[in-house]
Amino acid sequence: MQFEFQNPTRLIFAAGALARLGEVVRRHGKRALLVTGGGSVKRSGVFARAVVSLNAAGVTVIECSGVEPNPRLSTVLRGAELARREGCDVVIALGGGSTMDAAKVMAAAVYYEGDPWDMIAHGQDRQRLPTRALPVVTVPTLAATGSEMNCGAVITNEQTTEKSFVMAECLYPVAAVVDPELTVSVPADQTAYGICDLITHVTEGYFNGVDGTPVQDRFAEGVVATALEWGPKAVADGNDLEARAQIQWASVVALNGWVQIGTDAPFPVHMIEHVLSAHHDVAHGAGLAVVNPAWMRYAAESRPERFAQFAHRVFGVPAKWSDPAGCAQEGIASFESFLRSIGCPTRLSELRIGDALLARYAQETVRIAHDDQRRLPGRPALSEAEIVNLLRSAL
Ligand code: NAP
Ligand code: FE
Repeated sequence: MQFEFQNPTRLIFAAGALARLGEVVRRHGKRALLVTGGGSVKRSGVFARAVVSLNAAGVTVIECSGVEPNPRLSTVLRGAELARREGCDVVIALGGGSTMDAAKVMAAAVYYEGDPWDMIAHGQDRQRLPTRALPVVTVPTLAATGSEMNCGAVITNEQTTEKSFVMAECLYPVAAVVDPELTVSVPADQTAYGICDLITHVTEGYFNGVDGTPVQDRFAEGVVATALEWGPKAVADGNDLEARAQIQWASVVALNGWVQIGTDAPFPVHMIEHVLSAHHDVAHGAGLAVVNPAWMRYAAESRPERFAQFAHRVFGVPAKWSDPAGCAQEGIASFESFLRSIGCPTRLSELRIGDALLARYAQETVRIAHDDQRRLPGRPALSEAEIVNLLRSAL
């Protein structure tokens, strides 16, 4: 295990923190592109409160609304053009992961020479990564992605039906204003999908990382255990602010780099889900709820001890060292039952995805993973045929 770590995002975490948005943004600029989604922040009154705070601090607001779930390249280009035309010096993302991801890439596209899709379409090709962006302040309204405090963004090119990601230093937000009160209006289904997303962020690291990371194992198990304890409460009663706060904090740490530190893990479940989202526009967390248990069943065959450890420590499955495979499968079944209990789909048919294009999904998954060996990196690395089998098991 070896690593170098820096996360430069200032994190302000408190119920009521939205009132401080103006003061936080004003440190970075005074003409802000305020990026929002399809209207939830207007309906909840959060948008109006944000503007009051910004104006009181002397920040002029240029509104860029309409970022869709699974944000599209055309929306990113529209926002970047608006920021350029209006001479914005800071970008604010007020919304879910889609809004935050779109805002980050808009901030980088303002300076990017050439086609902004290039920074996303070529994996982590250093030549194409953005090196400069307007400062971004994130204000998440949904606990899920952790985008508020990481340097990643996932964008869909609707013309080529490709969904892919970029990670670059310059995409770290300068500040994240995380106010759990903003999440009380999230409907039960999106709350559940967010819980699945945050759990999957840590299971990817846990199951695909290098060996010998006991501290990170415990971090990851702690995040999942917290989600198991508090998630159902947030789903059952959206106004339970304590549950909302615990879930939101779990979602921040699940992908701000800390839990996965040194694990060097690829994210195969995410890669498969991105292809499903690109083709079927499914909610990210819902797609993960189908793919992750199916992937686990597959991967557990080659490393049952690892999955048995997870089953034992997180789901309390009695340790049966003579039968790690049985213990592993019991843990995965518990995970799947949990997902169902909070309202997540666990079969492709529930997402209205049939078996017609499985070979194509597999091919595209391997392509967006940009692996020289033409396999999906992970433990184990998967061939296209194996991805088809895995998806077939989730029909
Ligand atoms: P989202 O796509 O941003 O939002 C999903 C839905 O929830 C939207 O309809 C949105 O409505 C609504 N919503 C958001 N906040 C709400 C609130 N407070 N009250 C009521 N409704 C609310 O969901 P997400 O799961 O946060 O983001 C998913 C995207 O992030 C995917 O594209 C995924 O691939 C990506 N992702 C990124 C990372 C990363 O590290 N950058 C990690 C994982 C996933 P409005 O549009 O009307 O606001
Ligand atoms: Fe995710």
